[in-house]
Amino acid sequence: MTPPEPEEILARLDAYRQADAPTHGGRVLSYVYDSGLAELDELAAAAAARVQAVNALDPTTFPSVAQLQADVVAFARDVLGGGPETSGAVTSGGTESILLAVLAARKRWRERHPGSTTTPRVVAPSTAHAAFHKAAHYLGLDLVPVPVDPAGGTLPAARVVEHLDEATALVVASAPAYPHGVVDPVAQIAGAAAERDIPCHVDACVGGFVLPWWPEAGAWDLSVPGVTSISADLHKFGYAPKGASVLLFADPALDRARYYALTDWPGYPVVNPTALGSRSAMSLAAAWAVLTRLGTQGYADLTDRVVRTTAVVREVVDGIRGLRVLGDPVGPLLAVVADPEADHADRVDPHAWAGAVARRGFVLQGQPGMTQTDGTTIPRSTHLTITPVTSGVAGELAAALVAGAEDVRGQTGGVPGSAAQGEVPVPDPADLARQARETGELDLASVLALIEALPRERSAALLVDFLAEFTAAPRD
Ligand SMILES: *Cc1c(COP(=O)(O)O)cnc(C)c1O
Repeated sequence: MTPPEPEEILARLDAYRQADAPTHGGRVLSYVYDSGLAELDELAAAAAARVQAVNALDPTTFPSVAQLQADVVAFARDVLGGGPETSGAVTSGGTESILLAVLAARKRWRERHPGSTTTPRVVAPSTAHAAFHKAAHYLGLDLVPVPVDPAGGTLPAARVVEHLDEATALVVASAPAYPHGVVDPVAQIAGAAAERDIPCHVDACVGGFVLPWWPEAGAWDLSVPGVTSISADLHKFGYAPKGASVLLFADPALDRARYYALTDWPGYPVVNPTALGSRSAMSLAAAWAVLTRLGTQGYADLTDRVVRTTAVVREVVDGIRGLRVLGDPVGPLLAVVADPEADHADRVDPHAWAGAVARRGFVLQGQPGMTQTDGTTIPRSTHLTITPVTSGVAGELAAALVAGAEDVRGQTGGVPGSAAQGEVPVPDPADLARQARETGELDLASVLALIEALPRERSAALLVDFLAEFTAAPRD
């Protein structure tokens, strides 16, 4: 059989893309960060195409890679409160930045505890990103989750400080944390960490390219004494295509600790600054082009739009009977929860609400309730990320948020933690996946309720089985 012509291949790709959520236009309030500037998308694509064949594995063979990275690091250093000593890397995303920050901290801890049989620990707020759990899992550390105030998502710094001990390799603060958009008390945590000579990572993956221009964002960046590293995703509010994040270190020695080098094999001398070996320069070049074009003024202008729209959306949500915004978020992320003070008949379940709002054309992100180690429960919520394009659909969005609440007000949703473990009917994940593939629909509210009701190992295993089946190659 002759292979298909290029046009046909691209037509097939377009057909596959039909089922995707829209990446532009502000209808999806998570996953995508749309500047609304078509010119930036075109520039990014053109820049990526120019380095398509480059292998970023070796910047001595491809010095453009070193230059692009140096430009990006210099820009990020200025924006994130770094100094002339600040160094770092461009990685493939927030997860990789965090993996490397944890790796560097582990190396330092081991150097300071030679021969120790203790398992080093990462101390992180309950709301810290899953990537810290993943890093601890990959790298053999224990993660100590510190409970936040479940009503407001705030973290009493003293609670974190209590956990800092000899075994602590790294302490984490988020600016802001993804689930609720709340900024942790970075100065107090970093200060206490510095007194004990413990590295402190600020996870500004989502906030790093928006908080610098946000009014009254407080002190959260590398300029805060005791902050040793920071991550900021270019592919979020940096408005770059996916595959780019920056990781910066205040301390050059800690920065060195993220590298891997090997001369003890018969192949080329290996020195990898990040997790991958051969790697694309496409997302680096694209991100570089976007931030060079925007400059700090461009980011300030886009942030301005986000600030205004976020205030509008907050006001709309606060005006909806039965719902409220959790805590006091700083930045463009909001978590919406059922108003615990509302009468039962007025209550709105945030997941049922997300379903109703989806039927009205806007995709919000459901987050399950979670019991913390101190027994308190962070309520289930629905997450919204406001981006520059949200301003163009703000009226429509407001109408959908209000009408969606009317649709489901007073319907009793599941109450987190109320189902006894093991008593809920558990669907076959393979059936669920096949059904979702065939119909293009997935009842997310039920999936989230199941996650709340099942023991966490079981729900995690269920997700694995589901995704494996959902993405599986055809067997016939
Ligand atoms: C998105 C995010 C991450 C993880 O980043 P990825 O790019 O998805 O790997 C980490 N921390 C926070 C706060 C985030 O918002």
